[in-house]
Amino acid sequence: MFNQEIINKFKSIKTPFYYYDIAVLQKTLKVVKEESSKYNFIVHYALKANANNELLNIIKSFNIGADCVSGNEVKKGVECEFTPEHIVFAGVGKNDDEINYALDQTIFCFNCESLQEIEVINELAKAKSKVASIALRINPNVNANTHKYITTGLEENKFGINLWELETVVKKIQTLNNIKLIGLHFHIGSQITDLSSFKSLCLKVNEIQSWFVSHKITIENINVGGGLGVDYHHPDENQITDFAAYFKLFNDFLELRPNQKVHFELGRAIIAQCGTLISKVLYIKNGVNTNFAILDAGMTELMRPALYQAYHKIENISASNNKQPTTNNLKYDVVGPICESSDCFGKAVSLPETQRGDLIAIRTAGAYGEVMSSAYNLRDRVKAIYSNQI
Ligand SMILES: *Cc1c(COP(=O)(O)O)cnc(C)c1O
Repeated sequence: MFNQEIINKFKSIKTPFYYYDIAVLQKTLKVVKEESSKYNFIVHYALKANANNELLNIIKSFNIGADCVSGNEVKKGVECEFTPEHIVFAGVGKNDDEINYALDQTIFCFNCESLQEIEVINELAKAKSKVASIALRINPNVNANTHKYITTGLEENKFGINLWELETVVKKIQTLNNIKLIGLHFHIGSQITDLSSFKSLCLKVNEIQSWFVSHKITIENINVGGGLGVDYHHPDENQITDFAAYFKLFNDFLELRPNQKVHFELGRAIIAQCGTLISKVLYIKNGVNTNFAILDAGMTELMRPALYQAYHKIENISASNNKQPTTNNLKYDVVGPICESSDCFGKAVSLPETQRGDLIAIRTAGAYGEVMSSAYNLRDRVKAIYSNQI
């Protein structure tokens, strides 16, 4: 993916840093727009995947809404000029300040996760003589078949309102004057690559919809959340996720009522492949059964491997340009400098013979990478470089 020209540029930039390929992002967004427009689906971008202003400005320019999970994300969405009518706000623990801010901005919808939260929003809206539009985030008890830390739609998860609570919640809402129920919301997890999980979600949504119909309650919006996965193993061959198949599936299986709108909240599938963490090898060390390549980037820059045992493709972009045959590859445990044994990007990674000073690219790092970076060990905060600015 990286040609010699860009690698030469990297050589003059202090590592580690995130590199964002703007052309890849734009290509991805174009496909998202084309495929979702076929069915008039509305797409929101999940800011929590990556909230860099430069990237948000590009995403917004494709007329995509914002999906926020904190008051500061709502604020960021507003500052980056996502229109408030296209901002949705989810999260199990919205505090009063966050709710008040979102009420002041008159966002499109609060995705509510408990009865108590709805009661609090009602009180706060009443104090402002406003009516808050809400969607019920329903826990559909659908398995996303992904890592357990990023599964959110099972009854054992903290998210959403369980199906058996629905009747009580809906009855209660009918007594609240400052709440307007405008939608149902679902989000079953992240990095979902088996589309049949989304089919199961559709079937569950249809069942839940019939319940609302039988109770003569009209629902204008169905928000099916995000979670579409990307190919971490083949970032070049599979740069853009199969959005066509994804949107088509919802069109095929969701039974919509007249005038109902369908919303999506995509994070990773939009932003993951355009980002790469670029790092330098500090030291090579021979261990008992393995060699260590010790990088100047660690879990402080990219936490996913330590947090979710996530796989990222690792490339030595200095050596790969010497066109060494891969049969001469050696195995390295690629680790960071942080004082934690979990600070490891990959075990027994096959790389050409690697030396101090080589540039290492950790691919598919645009989502849940830089946003999760920290200053642990009093590290400097990681920088970002954009392809259109170097
Ligand atoms: C995280 C999140 C998303 C985005 O998930 P991706 O897997 O990045 O697509 C969407 N909706 C909600 C409510 C979320 O919490």
